Amino acid sequence: MSIVTGTCNCNLIKFQIDLDKIKTIVNCHCNLCRGMNGSAFSTYAVVMENDFTMLSGNDNLKLYQATANAQKCFCISCGTPIYNINPTKYNGLKILYIGTLPDLRSLMPKANIYYESKLEWVDKLNTIESFAQVRVN
Ligand SMILES: [Zn+2]
Ligand SMILES: [Zn+2]
Repeated sequence: MSIVTGTCNCNLIKFQIDLDKIKTIVNCHCNLCRGMNGSAFSTYAVVMENDFTMLSGNDNLKLYQATANAQKCFCISCGTPIYNINPTKYNGLKILYIGTLPDLRSLMPKANIYYESKLEWVDKLNTIESFAQVRVN
């Protein structure tokens, strides 16, 4: 058992999961996630609904109908995405945004999904320069 508390950035939303019960961790490269999240790809930890316990902030959780089947839940105060659900395709699963969890170093993704939509430069990230802060030139 390795119970951790996940939070949104403003800490109004808090939930608990057992890291040992994470079904899988994936990088999703699909166009829907890219557009919906404004990022090159999205990393998710997948848990069973029953293994997810809301601790606080239920009233702050807003559900957005992203497609006919998929819903994205986020904090209405700070905008942090918390999880996606898709009762039609992935019934009983909560697809957690991994950045809501503490200590991400141990949570290595197991697979890339929707790989055909992946941006080619994602594979080259370790070849570019790295700085401590933003540089624009
Ligand atoms: Zn928040
Ligand atoms: Zn996706």
